[in-house]
Amino acid sequence: MVRRRRGHLIVRPDTALISRGFDPKLSVGSARPAVFRSSTYVFSSPESAERAFDIALGRSVPAHGESVDLIYARLSHPNAEILEDHLTAIEPKAEAAAVFNTGMAAISTIFLALLRPGSAFVHTTPVYGGTQHLIHQLLEPMGIRAVPVPAGDSDALAEAIATTPKLGLVFIETPANPTLVMTDIAHAAKAAAALDPRPPVVVDNTFLGPTFQQALDLGADLSVYSATKYLAGQSDMLGGAVLSSQPALISMLRGLRAVLGNILPPDEAWILDSRLPTVALRMHVQERNAHKVATALAEHPAVARVIHPAFFADAAQAELAARQCTGHGGMVALDLHGGRRAAFDFLRTLTITRNAVSLGGIESLACHPRTTTHAELSEEELERYGIGEGLVRLSIGIEDPRDLIEDFERGLDAAMGPAG
Ligand SMILES: *Cc1c(COP(=O)(O)O)cnc(C)c1O
Repeated sequence: MVRRRRGHLIVRPDTALISRGFDPKLSVGSARPAVFRSSTYVFSSPESAERAFDIALGRSVPAHGESVDLIYARLSHPNAEILEDHLTAIEPKAEAAAVFNTGMAAISTIFLALLRPGSAFVHTTPVYGGTQHLIHQLLEPMGIRAVPVPAGDSDALAEAIATTPKLGLVFIETPANPTLVMTDIAHAAKAAAALDPRPPVVVDNTFLGPTFQQALDLGADLSVYSATKYLAGQSDMLGGAVLSSQPALISMLRGLRAVLGNILPPDEAWILDSRLPTVALRMHVQERNAHKVATALAEHPAVARVIHPAFFADAAQAELAARQCTGHGGMVALDLHGGRRAAFDFLRTLTITRNAVSLGGIESLACHPRTTTHAELSEEELERYGIGEGLVRLSIGIEDPRDLIEDFERGLDAAMGPAG
C-alpha cells in the first residue's frame, strides 16, 4: 500500500531527506535542485499577486494543494522552501521548519516573536555566548525579565516555570556548553503544560540533535539549531533552523523573519540542503571517535577529569543521558592538571586538531573556553559552571581516531611541562 500524507508519499526519514520536496520539472529536469538567485518573482497574473500578498500578510491560508506565487526572496525563495521541506524529516515530530542566516538569527527571532516588554522567560545556564549577549544586551534592557536556572536542576526549573509571572517562553540548552551538563526536556515540558496559557518550550538542540536527541519528541515546541555546526558539518557556512510540530508557530517566525530580513540566502540554503542526507553518517562517526578519544585520554596523568556523556559520574545525569539521548555525541572536554599553562601548552602542541572555536565539523577542533567562548562570564560564573583554567573543549571530527589520540597524547605530554 502506498501511504500518503498531505500529498506526500510517506517514506522513512533517511529517504525523505533525499527524495522529498523537490520537483525536477521546476528546474529543467535537473536531478538536484538549481540555485534560484532571483531577488524577485514574476506573478502569473495580477490576481495571483493579490492572492500571494493576502496569504503572506496572514489574511488567508492556502487551500489544500493550492500553488501560491512567490513574491520576493526576503519573504521566501525556492531554495529555502526545498530546504525547509527536507528539514522536517530530521526530527520525526516536525511538521514545519524555518531557516535563518545564522543560529543566532534563529534564536533572536524566536525571542522577539514570543516576548514583549513586561513579559519573562526562564532559561538554563550556562547558555551559548551569543544567547547570553542577546539576553543581557538586548532583552533585559528592553524590559524583558530573564530567570536563570542552573542546567541539570530539574526541580528548580519546574519551580521557576510554575512561579514566574507573565512567562512567555522556556529556553533550554542541553547539553550545556562546555560542561555537557544535561537538562530534562520532558520534565520542563510537563511543568509548562500545567500552565494556561502554556508557554512554548524552546530547546537549543545544536550539540546532540538531530541524530542523538529529538527535542520535539521530548515535548519541546520549538527545536532550534545552529546549522553552522553538525547540520552543515564542514565549517564552511553559517545557518540556523527552527523545527516545530506546530505550523502556526513556524508561520509566526517566518512573518518576523521577513521583517528582520534574516532568511538564509539561496546559495547557503542549497549548500545546507546538500549536507542533510549525511548528517547521521557524520555524527555517528564523530560519536564513535569521541568515545575512543575520551576512553584513551582518561588514562593520561595530565588529565584530572574527562567530560563526556558516556562517562557521567553523577547518577542522575547518567540516567538522564540514557533516557533523553540515543547517543553521546562528538564533544569531549578535558580538565587538565596545571591550569591555564597546561591547557595552552596542550593546544599549542596539537598538529592535527586545530585551535579554533566552533564545533560539529568533519575536522577536529580544540579551544580553551575560559579565555575564548566563555570569556565574558564573571569569575564567579566561571567557577559556578565549572569552567576552570585547565578546561579544554574538543569537537571530534571524522579523522582516523588513532591519529587523533596520538595527537592529543603528544599535547597532554607537553601539558605536563618540561619536568613531566
Ligand atoms: C554556535 C551555536 C549557536 C549560534 O549559532 P551561529 O550559527 O554561530 O549563529 C547557538 N547555540 C549553540 C549551542 C551553538 O553552538
